[in-house]
Amino acid sequence: MRNRMIAGNWKMNKTYTEGVQLAQDLAEALSDGTGNVDVVVCPPTVDLKGVSTVIDQQSAPFALGAQNVYWEESGAYTGETAPNMLEAVGATYCIIGHSERRDYFHETDEDVNKKAKTLMSHNIVPISCCGEPLEIREAGTHVAYVVDQIKKDTEGLEISDPAKYVVAYEPIWAIGTGKTATADDAQEVCGAIRATLAEIFGQETADGIRILYGGSAKPENVAGFLEKEDVDGALVGGASLKADSFSAMVKAAM
Ligand code: PEP
Repeated sequence: MRNRMIAGNWKMNKTYTEGVQLAQDLAEALSDGTGNVDVVVCPPTVDLKGVSTVIDQQSAPFALGAQNVYWEESGAYTGETAPNMLEAVGATYCIIGHSERRDYFHETDEDVNKKAKTLMSHNIVPISCCGEPLEIREAGTHVAYVVDQIKKDTEGLEISDPAKYVVAYEPIWAIGTGKTATADDAQEVCGAIRATLAEIFGQETADGIRILYGGSAKPENVAGFLEKEDVDGALVGGASLKADSFSAMVKAAM
């Protein structure tokens, strides 16, 4: 049985003070608990410590995630963040392979794979993103495209606890555009992702891995995605920036 997951990606939004405020508001909005839903917030790196302090002080029912990591443990890598640094501020999840990182910062599947291995060796759960651009969707080759990403991103990974690896399927044409995939579109690809994970890791492991949908998910449409067999939650961008919309999505998942 997979717990549902709602994860918020704040992207490059919220200064330290604003981030702390949002975390406090969210802790308040979710003060009755989140049932079986695992909730994660992923603020910008400089906000991590502040949000972590709010989680501790308010016993907030959500976990802390980062938006990126580097695969080396330390050294001359200006501007990067090592996994033990994330660990030290209480991050237990980390987004990798987001399409914005792939597009703007040229992150490759090989990088995503290295990041996943590094995170898992530090007991930080990767939220590993995949998804096709519009031209691939229009050519009708989206399933093959995403399956190929999954194979490359998971190469050589050892998954002993399937709750400790999360996939987010985010069709790029639906991110931040207001254009959502239909729930059937999401199921088609999420089902193919699970079948691919089963080929690689075995059915039992694949059945325990959460697969999230992301792309203009909001309170009004999240329930439709969650009805689908292979959609276990949502990775939320825009709608995670306000406590009322994000908490409404958590409640819709409960
Ligand atoms: C995202 O960037 O992960 C995302 C899903 O963004 P939005 O919800 O704003 O489309």
